[in-house]
Amino acid sequence: MGKRKSARKPQAKVKHTLDSQFDCVACFHEKSINCKLDFDQKVGHLQCRMCGVSYTCTINYLSHAVDVYHDWIDACEAVNTAGKAAKAAAQDRTRDRERERDRDDRDSERPRRSKPYDRYDDDE
Ligand SMILES: [Zn+2]
Repeated sequence: MGKRKSARKPQAKVKHTLDSQFDCVACFHEKSINCKLDFDQKVGHLQCRMCGVSYTCTINYLSHAVDVYHDWIDACEAVNTAGKAAKAAAQDRTRDRERERDRDDRDSERPRRSKPYDRYDDDE
């Protein structure tokens, strides 16, 4: 009786590399992000092999490649919203200044307008 040599197929290793490939949010290629975790240095590193964008973040022993990937997406969004927020804040400042000027005009008009009426009311 011969042993069945082909019974066990060595295929477990492939899955790990698949897990650490993600879609790139910079160039929108699918599965072009390669993610590496260095638990000795406590850094996670990812790089897109299509557009070359890279990102490094700190990890802990619980981190997974997907955490580094999500960290990167968060960082990208933070940059975008920070840029928008700065622009919006600048616009708000201009608007506030205009609003204050309007208010000053109205405040300075009010006493001038109300005084004559008061006087007339008192007289009658
Ligand atoms: Zn890319």
